[in-house]
Amino acid sequence: MAIVMKFGGTSVADAAAFKNVARIVSWEHKVPRVVVVSAMSGVTDDLLNATSIAATGDAEQAFASLENAFKRHEAAAHDLLSNPAREEFLKQLREASDEIADLLKQFAEKPSERKALQDAVVSFGEILSSSLLAAVLDQRHVRARHVDARRCIITDEDHTCAGPLMIESSARTKNELLPVLEEGIVAVMGGFIGATRTGVTTTLGRGGSDYTAALIGAMIHVSELQIWTDVSGVLTADPRVVPHAYTIDRLSYSEAAELAYFGAKVLHPKTIQPAIENSIPVRICNSRIPEAAGTLVGPQAETSPRTIKAIAHKKGVTIMQITSARMLGAYGFLRALFEVFDRHRTVIDVVTTSEVSVSLSLDEASALPSIVEELERFGTVRVEKGQATICLVGEGLRGTPGVAARAFSTISDINVSLISQGASSINFTFVVDEGRVQEVVTRLHEEFFSHKLVRTAQENECF
Ligand code: ADP
Ligand code: ASP
Ligand code: MG
Repeated sequence: MAIVMKFGGTSVADAAAFKNVARIVSWEHKVPRVVVVSAMSGVTDDLLNATSIAATGDAEQAFASLENAFKRHEAAAHDLLSNPAREEFLKQLREASDEIADLLKQFAEKPSERKALQDAVVSFGEILSSSLLAAVLDQRHVRARHVDARRCIITDEDHTCAGPLMIESSARTKNELLPVLEEGIVAVMGGFIGATRTGVTTTLGRGGSDYTAALIGAMIHVSELQIWTDVSGVLTADPRVVPHAYTIDRLSYSEAAELAYFGAKVLHPKTIQPAIENSIPVRICNSRIPEAAGTLVGPQAETSPRTIKAIAHKKGVTIMQITSARMLGAYGFLRALFEVFDRHRTVIDVVTTSEVSVSLSLDEASALPSIVEELERFGTVRVEKGQATICLVGEGLRGTPGVAARAFSTISDINVSLISQGASSINFTFVVDEGRVQEVVTRLHEEFFSHKLVRTAQENECF
């Protein structure tokens, strides 16, 4: 059975990182491999930034802003490839740069087509990194072939966050990948990108390469999905907030899904579902320290003796409270209310209700003004921006009393709102002011995990 190995942007940041990826891919020589790769780190941001400049009408300045991104690809190719592979890649790079220049011109001139043009521009990040990686593997005696992800992942037309059409994608993916794997060749493809049925380039949303890898894994029924990134697995908290957070050895699918959904960027929120449906174990590993154990995500609902496994947080959250006496004893009210969000294609994260009010949190609130306008027909609407959700996750939370009391007494001086225990009973979520996140997460981590730190400092080294 095959495996999928996904490498994020930092794993292909420069020539040294590419060499490292080639080494990791070659270790798995006994199994058929599909390698899914992100754009070189920062390149998607550079390409998006170029489209923002083009939106001001200055396509030349937009193109000029990409000079460094092109140079990084060129430098990596010089370092990693010898001819004729090098010349071939440099030719592809020149053609890509011409196409991007043309797309940016169109972007400046045709505001109505910007979403599709944006997808076309950013797709070059993954197109180039995957072509380069295939060539690098081949030169390092790992037989590899580049497969255009847009021939595999067929999506709807929802540009910038397209959804995969599973039946078409599955048929195409098998068609494209299986013959390559059967020849004993490593298939290398870009993550994040796809195409509509008519062949127009789309993207799956920021961080979407993890999702591509999970989709491919599900469609060709792999035995393992490996996510190679810049940290040693899923940690007990975001290491940018808690630098001494440590690796969690094992997570259940539900725990990983909750963590990803509530802000642990290490996994894209959509990654877990295809893995669950096909019982594929997901391993998250550090490409900079490949021998470190990392995290294994699987169906086991191992209940840890500590009740929680990790703390996730998400900033930039908006909370809304709708208060209406009409709610009292009335049915159909919540349906009508949620339909407003539905119409504006806005996702609600957390909901709590009382007799006369509903509070909810929104991650993406670009449609807020129109939503508020409609909701004011129901009652009084209060909006608070600049909030953050904090989420404690663990199978052990199920039926364990006292976690909430322990959490809240740790941060008793901080104002907390929208308290919710998810239906799965494995998450406990609440909202605080965004400015207090660092403090809240640090204090909770200290409270729930400090006793483990001495042991894990050694354990985390390697296995
Ligand atoms: P990649 O480019 O490999 O996809 P990402 O930047 O998307 O990597 O995800 C890895 C980052 O996720 C880490 O560097 C870390 O800052 C962040 N992160 C947030 N929460 C967690 C967590 N609980 N465990 C591990 N990493 C986390
Ligand atoms: N390159 C894309 C991004 O930066 C997709 C990914 O890295 O997963 O969002
Ligand atoms: Mg990512």
